[in-house]
This record gives sequence, structure tokens and C-alpha cells, in this order.
Amino acid sequence: MDFECLVVGAGPAGLSAALTLGRARRSVLVLDSGKPRNYAAREMHGVLGHDGLPPAELRARGVEEVGRYGIEVRPAEVGEARAIEGGVEVDGITARTLILATGMLDATPDVEGFDAIYGISAHTCPYCDGWEHADQRLAVLAGPEAAEHMGPLLRQWSSDVIVFSPGLEADIGVPVVREPITRFVSTDCRLTSIELDGRDPIERDALFFNIAMHPRSALAIQLGCTLTEAGFVESAAADRQTTVDRVYAVGNCADPMLNVPMSIADGARAAVFVNVRLVGEGIVQPV
Ligand SMILES: Cc1cc2nc3c(=O)[nH]c(=O)nc-3n(C[C@H](O)[C@H](O)[C@H](O)COP(=O)(O)OP(=O)(O)OC[C@H]3O[C@@H](n4cnc5c(N)ncnc54)[C@H](O)[C@@H]3O)c2cc1C
Repeated sequence: MDFECLVVGAGPAGLSAALTLGRARRSVLVLDSGKPRNYAAREMHGVLGHDGLPPAELRARGVEEVGRYGIEVRPAEVGEARAIEGGVEVDGITARTLILATGMLDATPDVEGFDAIYGISAHTCPYCDGWEHADQRLAVLAGPEAAEHMGPLLRQWSSDVIVFSPGLEADIGVPVVREPITRFVSTDCRLTSIELDGRDPIERDALFFNIAMHPRSALAIQLGCTLTEAGFVESAAADRQTTVDRVYAVGNCADPMLNVPMSIADGARAAVFVNVRLVGEGIVQPV
């Protein structure tokens, strides 16, 4: 085998797994296509010790840190992965184990003016960016099910919340606008108002949205891993192993709810179990 572990994805989950494995003297290669979920964010929040750090800086530090233990982070878009006798083969590279850390994609509103505000005054997660918009005039854009949760939740950050959700019928204790949004108006990437089909614009300072979430990669499907009902990779809570032997899944490709610190923990947990497994197989020296 070329490596003891291959990690696909150099986000917080994959780099954390690689760091733990590197420090356990495991031979590891990380392959990454450079498309992190939080590409639009300028600052990362709620990450202990790194509150306010740009996400790209965390990634750069992670690449440097795994490099101290001889681990290369190679730019590559992995196209093929399959299980082989005693391991896996990923684009022609073989390894005893594979950690999928391929992240996910947030569907964004297909509305004029959105790109200008994404990451600055349009966000997905109030725990990540709510503080910066505390007591402002907030908008929530979500389908009915997500809106029922997000609308009342955002009240923790501001008493002025309006939910924009055409299909929402339930009374959720927060004002609801059902007309479709036609444009986000902004100044210097700051949302100022929301234009609607058939009624006057509504002034708002920030948007929190939840349209849909999808895994970024289909590698788990190629490998034959079982998926959850929502389409993410099923991996065991205890050790993050998937239903395919020697294949583990961590971070947002397995659980869309994980933020950066949770993804870091997820990767570290899987790495410990990968190492224990290899020790159990009698593989006790680096390849
Ligand atoms: C706008 C925004 C702001 C956010 N702000 C915060 C915040 O402030 N604080 C916080 O805690 N969380 C924040 N999050 C959540 C955070 O982005 C995720 O929790 C975190 O990125 C998950 O880490 P991950 O390693 O699972 O995935 P990612 O960071 O998405 O990394 C996955 C990596 O896998 C690579 N990859 C995918 N497929 C392949 C392939 N086939 N071959 C090679 N490489 C591949 C991708 O290129 C990517 O680099 C934010 C999310 C968004 C959308």
C-alpha cells in the first residue's frame, strides 16, 4: 500500500484527522480540491482560540502543522474511489484506510443581488454570525420546515425578525412574508432592503438563509457507502466508520450540522480509531 491512510478533503475535519494521524507516526496523504464550504466568509466565529480568524488562515495553519509530521496536502479533485483487498484505491493511489472529509454545499438563493451580500450580511448560521448582527433588522429566508425553526431561533439575536417563506402556513410567532423575493438591495455588501413581487420593499440589515444542503462529493456513493435519509454519508457515532470497511467519514459530508470546532473534533476522533485499528492489525511502524 502507498499510505496507511488517505484523507480526501483539507477542511477542518480532514486536516484535524491528518494532524492526529501524523502525530501517531502514520503515513498519510491529504488530497484536496480547494472548495471549502465557508468560502464566502471573511471571518470565522465561535472557534475557541481562533474567534475572528479568516477561514483561509486556519486552513493555511493546518497545512503547515500537518507538514511538520511529513504529511503532504496535494491539490487534486479526486474522481474515483473503490474498495480493494485490504484497503482502498483513490485515483490510482492505494491506502489501508480512507477518511472522507469532503464537506457539503449550501444551496444559495437564485435572486439578483445575493452574491454581493453573501458572507458579509447574508449567512447560514446564527451561531457563526448572529452576534455581528445583534439587534439589527433581520430576515430569514427558508422553506417551511426550516423557517419554523430558524424564525423563532433568530429572536435570540434580535427582536426584529421577519421570515420570508412563500410556502409557510403555520403561525410561528414571527411575522411572515409570503411574496417571492425579487432582489436584495445592498450598499458596500451590506443588505439595505428586500424587494418583493407585488408589494413594497422591506428594509432589512442582514439575511439568514437555509434553502437546501447537499454533500459536495459522490465518492461515498461510488464506494457503496450507505447514505442517511438526507443524503449524507452514514458513519457510526463512536468511531466514524461508514458501512464500507476501512472507509471513515467526518465533518459535513457525514453531518451537515457540524461547525468548525465540531468538525475538528470529528476528524480527530476518526483518526484515533483508524490508528487503533491499524495497531490491531499489527501495523505498528510507519510505511
Ligand atoms: C458562509 C459560511 C460561514 C461559516 N462560518 C462559520 C463560522 O464562523 N464558524 C464555524 O464554526 N463554522 C462556520 N461555518 C461552517 C463551516 O464552514 C463548516 O463547519 C466546515 O467547513 C466543515 O468542515 P469540513 O472539513 O467538513 O468541510 P469543508 O471545510 O467544506 O472542507 C471540505 C474539503 O473537501 C474538499 N473536497 C470535496 N470533494 C473533494 C474531492 N472529490 N477531491 C478532493 N477534495 C475534495 C473541498 O475542496 C474542501 O476543501 C460556515 C459555513 C458557511 C457556509
